[in-house]
Amino acid sequence: MTLPAFELVQPRSLRDAIDALAAAPGMEPIAGGTSLLVDLRGARVKAETLLDLGRIDELRGITIDSHELVIGAMATIADVLKNPAVAEHAPLLVEACRLFASPLVRNRATIGGNLAYASPAADAAPPLLALDAVVELRSVRGRRQVALAEFFKGVRKTARKPDELLVGIHIPRAVPGTLSAYRKLGLRKADSISVASVATRVVVDMAGRCQAARIALGAVAPVPLRVAKAEAALTRHGLTVEAAADAAKLAAEATSPIDDVRGTAAYRRRVTETLVKRALLELVEKGGDGR
Ligand SMILES: Cc1cc2nc3c(=O)[nH]c(=O)nc-3n(C[C@H](O)[C@H](O)[C@H](O)COP(=O)(O)OP(=O)(O)OC[C@H]3O[C@@H](n4cnc5c(N)ncnc54)[C@H](O)[C@@H]3O)c2cc1C
Repeated sequence: MTLPAFELVQPRSLRDAIDALAAAPGMEPIAGGTSLLVDLRGARVKAETLLDLGRIDELRGITIDSHELVIGAMATIADVLKNPAVAEHAPLLVEACRLFASPLVRNRATIGGNLAYASPAADAAPPLLALDAVVELRSVRGRRQVALAEFFKGVRKTARKPDELLVGIHIPRAVPGTLSAYRKLGLRKADSISVASVATRVVVDMAGRCQAARIALGAVAPVPLRVAKAEAALTRHGLTVEAAADAAKLAAEATSPIDDVRGTAAYRRRVTETLVKRALLELVEKGGDGR
């Protein structure tokens, strides 16, 4: 099927972009186009006018200050991979981006597009959930921040209003004692949508005790999600081999996967347990308290 005809609006500033969106909220923003163009061509999405965000330099920066890292919505997966501040404060995101699609797609696909598209299998989502990320939305009505855990509302549904643009992702700076591990299972080694993915992060104190734990899952529920009961198993019992096994079971129980071309629901649930366990055992090895 060929790409249908559409009007293209190409603002050069964020101000012009949100003004254009306020005047015509039915407009579909386009970032890298790696999801949207495929959907337009397949007639899964209809849009008469696209709002091209590609010329707005202020949406592409990655900055760090004394309390947070801010990744512009138009930063590509490739931009994230080569940024030293992201490597230092969000290595979990870097791990996920390394396994994201292929170099060709990584050069076009944006981090904002990945979240705004709200696929259950969005690979940037689990690491960003585990990093306590907050998304910033802008419209002519002003700016607001939404915790990423509140942003996803369902398959392809988010808290973004039609006149809002996602402008950036805020991530707290990493604190000493932070350990993280990521696992993705796809049907091949590259260019593969996740069958399941897992992002884990803990903060251990000087004595090796687990002070905080985050476990986030992708592709195993209508939205990427954090699994609070599994996280609590680690903070309650410590970062041990036994607690890792308990947390992995609890994480699998919290999933609500579907059968699709990439795997059955039962397989996804089993694989989730295995991936969470493997990621947590990596953390135990890096700095568990051995109890
Ligand atoms: C071959 C191939 C392999 C892929 N592999 C992976 C993979 O491994 N992992 C993965 O997670 N995904 C993968 N994808 C899907 C896709 O590449 C990603 O989801 C990508 O991050 C989407 O970003 P984009 O910039 O291309 O978004 P677009 O396609 O431009 O936009 C996607 C949606 O988000 C909206 N949007 C974009 N930016 C904004 C914004 N700033 N504010 C508001 N709304 C916005 C658009 O209106 C649209 O609805 C793959 C796609 C292809 C074609």
